[in-house]
Amino acid sequence: MEQSEPSLVDVDVETPLHPNFSALGLASGLLPALEKQGVSVPTAIQSVGIPVILDSKSVYLQSETGSGKTLAYLLPLFTRIDAALPAVQAVIVAPTHELAIQIHHQCTDLAQQSGIALRSLLLIGGTPKDRQIEKLKKKPHIVVGSPGRILELIKAGKLKAHKILSIVLDEADRVLMDEHGPDVLGIIKAAPGSRQLIFASATQRHESREIIEKLAPQLVMLNPSPDLINQNIEHFYIVCEEREKPDVLRSVLHAFKAERAMIFVHRNETAEKITDKLLHHKFPSADLHGANYKEDRKRAMDGFRSGKIKALISSDVGARGLDVKGVTHVINFDVPTESKAYLHRVGRTARAGATGIAISLLTDSQGRLVRRFEEELGIAMREFCMRHGEVMEVKREQ
Ligand code: AMP
Repeated sequence: MEQSEPSLVDVDVETPLHPNFSALGLASGLLPALEKQGVSVPTAIQSVGIPVILDSKSVYLQSETGSGKTLAYLLPLFTRIDAALPAVQAVIVAPTHELAIQIHHQCTDLAQQSGIALRSLLLIGGTPKDRQIEKLKKKPHIVVGSPGRILELIKAGKLKAHKILSIVLDEADRVLMDEHGPDVLGIIKAAPGSRQLIFASATQRHESREIIEKLAPQLVMLNPSPDLINQNIEHFYIVCEEREKPDVLRSVLHAFKAERAMIFVHRNETAEKITDKLLHHKFPSADLHGANYKEDRKRAMDGFRSGKIKALISSDVGARGLDVKGVTHVINFDVPTESKAYLHRVGRTARAGATGIAISLLTDSQGRLVRRFEEELGIAMREFCMRHGEVMEVKREQ
């Protein structure tokens, strides 16, 4: 059998980076809107991604956490969508409610600030469907939400898919490969064959590549900064016993003067336990995980965004895509075993050019993970230890 050509077009990005947004061919109202947001110079992924999306091509936007991937697809979508056509023209799917809510807010802000009359509708589970069906009658241009609910509404004939121009898969490697995968494929199948697919993530999974090749044979693969890890993050770790972790965590929060920290755990119950403990010690905290009611998750996120809550203790629900300004620290109370999971979690800090600190609490037997993260992510991790409640650096022997 004849060898087929590789279908992914890995473009060598020689495109010069643009010093401003005006040369990128965006709708004129967007420029003052960006100014209002304090955004003036396109990031690398925006410079290379916007022209490709404006050109209606399918694209994989791969770049480090916090590098502005959302605007990289929203700005060209706002330019391409016809505001005079009352029909859903873009679908944006996200793996968690929190991320969908965040993207929806960005859409409404952009519409309001640019004066471009695009309507965005949030479609997530756990919210009455009847109300969503009523809102669909107002003909939004963009829907943002969870794949399951969006597909359900398409199948029920309440969301018409025939005018869809673009489908965005935010955190693409996750939404395609986890339990959402079949629903995402269902949405793509319902849309016209001419639709553009936009995949966005800091990472790519080998397993998803085959599916992506089938869905978008002419895909443009963009990865303008192949060193995926955000270089503005400093990485530390502390070795301690499992049972010591809650006390070590408190000392760390105190010693590092954590103003806004995201603390990651594996299990929902651990999140609840730590939150209770920190609250008991009067440290303003909240937990964020799948076992919580939707309203509690929203309250936790709102409190964390406003700064009322200084520690958000989260399961991996909060590991991807969430953009909260001013997160100073990410603490892995439970450390992930995969480098990609580490990368997404620590990526909640040092966003949009800021700096941040990541601290992992490891048990003795997890020491090998330090070498794995260092090698696979190209980072240096410094060891700290606790002495009389103080945190001190341990010098590594050469
Ligand atoms: P994202 O990676 O899309 O979640 O964006 C991370 C943060 O960077 C958000 O708060 C954006 O508002 C901000 N941002 C996006 N693009 C730019 C830019 N070109 N210059 C400065 N900040 C930006």
